[in-house]
Amino acid sequence: MQLINDCNMEFYQHHIDTVINQFNSNAENGLSENTIEKVRKKYGTNVLKVENSKNVFKILFGQFTSPLVLILIVASLVAYYLGQPRDGSILLIIVILNSLIGFYQEWKAENILASLKKLIVNKCTVVREGKTIEIFAEDLVPGDLVKLYEGDGVPADIRLLYSNGFAVNEFILTGESLPSSKDHLFSTDITLPLAEIKNCVYMGTTVARGEAIGIVYAIGIQTEIGKISASSQEIKSADSPVQIEIADVAKKLTYVTLFVGVFLFATRLLLNDSIALALVFSVSVAAAMVPEGLPAQISMALALAVGRLAKRKAIIKKIVSAQTLGSATVIASDKTGTITKNEMTITGCYFNGKSFTVSGLGYEPLGSISDDQSNVLKKDSLGNSKLFFLSGFLSSTGKVSPPDKYHPSWYCIGDPTEAAFATLALKAGFTLEEIEKEYPLIKAFGFDSFRKRASIIRGHQNKIISSVKGSIESILQKSIKIISDGNINELTDAQRQQMLSMSETFSENALRVIAIAYKEIEFKDDYTIDDAEQGLIFAGFVTMFDPPHEEVKEAIESVFKAHMKVFMITGDNEITAKAISKNIGLMNEGNEFPKIINGTSLQSMTDQQLTSVFKNRAVIFSRVSPDDKFRIVDLLIKQGEIVAVTGDGVNDTLSLKRADIGIAMGKNGSKVAQEAANMILLDDNFSTIVVAVKEGRTIFWNLEKNIKINITCNIAELSCVLFGFTGAFWGIATPILAVQILLIDMVGELFPLMMLTYDPPEKNIMENPPRNPKDKILTKNTMNGILINGLITGLVAYSAFLGVFLHNHHLSDHYEKAITVTFVSIIFGNYANVLSARTAGNVFGKYLFSNKKLFIGFLFSFSCVLLLVYLPLLNLYFHTSPLLLVDWLFPLASGIICLTVFEYRKKTEYKNV
Ligand code: ADP
Ligand code: MG
Repeated sequence: MQLINDCNMEFYQHHIDTVINQFNSNAENGLSENTIEKVRKKYGTNVLKVENSKNVFKILFGQFTSPLVLILIVASLVAYYLGQPRDGSILLIIVILNSLIGFYQEWKAENILASLKKLIVNKCTVVREGKTIEIFAEDLVPGDLVKLYEGDGVPADIRLLYSNGFAVNEFILTGESLPSSKDHLFSTDITLPLAEIKNCVYMGTTVARGEAIGIVYAIGIQTEIGKISASSQEIKSADSPVQIEIADVAKKLTYVTLFVGVFLFATRLLLNDSIALALVFSVSVAAAMVPEGLPAQISMALALAVGRLAKRKAIIKKIVSAQTLGSATVIASDKTGTITKNEMTITGCYFNGKSFTVSGLGYEPLGSISDDQSNVLKKDSLGNSKLFFLSGFLSSTGKVSPPDKYHPSWYCIGDPTEAAFATLALKAGFTLEEIEKEYPLIKAFGFDSFRKRASIIRGHQNKIISSVKGSIESILQKSIKIISDGNINELTDAQRQQMLSMSETFSENALRVIAIAYKEIEFKDDYTIDDAEQGLIFAGFVTMFDPPHEEVKEAIESVFKAHMKVFMITGDNEITAKAISKNIGLMNEGNEFPKIINGTSLQSMTDQQLTSVFKNRAVIFSRVSPDDKFRIVDLLIKQGEIVAVTGDGVNDTLSLKRADIGIAMGKNGSKVAQEAANMILLDDNFSTIVVAVKEGRTIFWNLEKNIKINITCNIAELSCVLFGFTGAFWGIATPILAVQILLIDMVGELFPLMMLTYDPPEKNIMENPPRNPKDKILTKNTMNGILINGLITGLVAYSAFLGVFLHNHHLSDHYEKAITVTFVSIIFGNYANVLSARTAGNVFGKYLFSNKKLFIGFLFSFSCVLLLVYLPLLNLYFHTSPLLLVDWLFPLASGIICLTVFEYRKKTEYKNV
């Protein structure tokens, strides 16, 4: 630091050697282990501060800005003014408690979302002590030598020392939405704005294309992004449709409430109340009517669900997606890396006209190469095929590495398809370092799913060789010669046909085929992609095994049961795709093979023809390009489907963004894709999507119950008060007091309803068709149902009130007793509603005891009720009175009557559907 600070120059203004020396690093071998420890002590870990505390006050303050709370506060002041400090205090306490609960719910929701960020581990590739390894980005230190590839996230601020066709997305820092190209040779001695510095890349940006190597010069909060502590990666909490709908309903109810409030106020005046008393009464009743706690409750429920999803390895980046998930109708999934594990093993080779088998599974170089006479071969006995055993690796940037403190077993660095070739080279007896030295890299043209090839130009002795690998079609297309037994000849059509049909036999066994070609080229100052990939000599191909995830078969079965479709979209050929689809049960009705459409025929299809294909429940799209994928997704969405799409590469971003739910992979996916997605699968597993859909449906169903029950209870309270007015003409006082109504919301409703969000899915939740996300929760029908159930509860509670009031006329506290009975009756009615509404089946079915937390909620709620009924102090404040055993018969009967009616209505309602 000293040296550079002294002359006030920035890292981008220095010569790269100065930067390297500055950190005692090395351009080839990186840092040594003991330097790393020292540097870490000095600079700390590479993390950005997560600021969450800032929000606490905002959330807390937000609780007191709702107009209702303000009105309640006014009402309480009025009560004080009227010389009724007890009522005044109660109102105030209720306001405060309510706000605290709202605060807790929102705060918890925020916290859950904030904690999710940490679950996405960022890894990066570094060279330390001469070895290329993969480490957690937070363990990077200044001086580390970092390798960056397409799709990677830039893990720190880095000065480049090598770059090749390199460009990064710097939107987060500069606002520029197009990739900006970078060049390690750029130099300047003047001060430049960030956007013009071409020899450095910055933490938080992503690699759009090319590759580079660089030296870390700033980490954590010393980075540019750390300085502005931007929170662009923050999980956004845009409101989900349920939240919007409920906010809307709450608003409408507020208007209704205003009317009701005015009406109550006028009536109380007519009944000879004082103005102030009438005001307090009408305001409190009105306040109880509005489901003001509902929005907070919904955000907490959604956040909890998002937390649950995270435990099951699906990270939701926007809460909205949690709800959308439940309505998904089509899952358009990649094959490699989602349906299969993307753990590539080369099982066989066909090089130079000869076949070889390769034993061993995984990236560990345990296993051997043998020819068709079962002779085990090593590098010196490979004869004139030796080069081809290296070619795959020579055209790759992917590597394998032995176990280290971050990985329990051999692991791949970079693209698994490429890493498999590193294992092959190791099995042949080479070391990776030796190959890299003997074949120094000159220029690389990385893989993309448009070309379906990758190539690297390297020097070797006095020659320059381009090694190419890719799909067999794309390699044959670029080859003009073929090598067989060391002889190079023109590649005839018959040979092309023969190669294709040979490879097909492997594909039929669900193996991937990667073809290899090469050519010698002339020395030049710079090479184009055509220099590397035109007029090749076809060398042969390898077969790769990539096992499907174990759980996928079951998951696909349940997707079909849930009336959803699965489209497999792959860049691989149709035969491999077909073989895999059979293994995982991706079949149409009647066990028929799914319709297969390859990239070429896809391009000649009209939108209309394509749409008719969408009718199938299973379709395979093979050899597609990212553009084709986008077209499929786009058309599906235009067709009204709700589409979940997976993607892993840089080119998938458009599709991921277009999708209703864009899904990226957490393990093998690129950072670029992760940023475009709404959901990240930590285990890269198709079946996790299905788990998430199920959770999405559950969330929705639970929210729906919650909302219905909440509003029903409010209607019950209101209708009970209104029934009370009829009694008023016979001189019977109001059946329930305002504070008690507020208490019902808090004690009788809140606790059970909060626990209701933990309800498990019902057995058949994945057997119903997906719900149309445009459907409102509160349709006319539902509203009617809510109204009727609310009126019934209100009526029953009022009857209970009348019963006790009239029966106990001789007692001095008969009025208090009676209103206490109303209070408990409404709560019991609400319990009945909770129990009945939470399942589509019989209330006393298996589902009854499926949620322990709910019963804890009931228990807690009922304990509060008991305290309110029997604690003298509370009696005083809430105008309640202890009940005798016989008195309990009334609320009990109310609960039972409500439950019976609700159950009956539910049955008939469901019959009509
Ligand atoms: P998918 O992920 O569905 O298998 P891709 O678009 O990634 O499809 O790959 C398409 C084809 O390109 C593969 O079938 C394979 O033949 C070839 N391929 C894949 N990865 C590489 C790579 N790293 N280098 C060269 N060829 C590759
Ligand atoms: Mg792929």
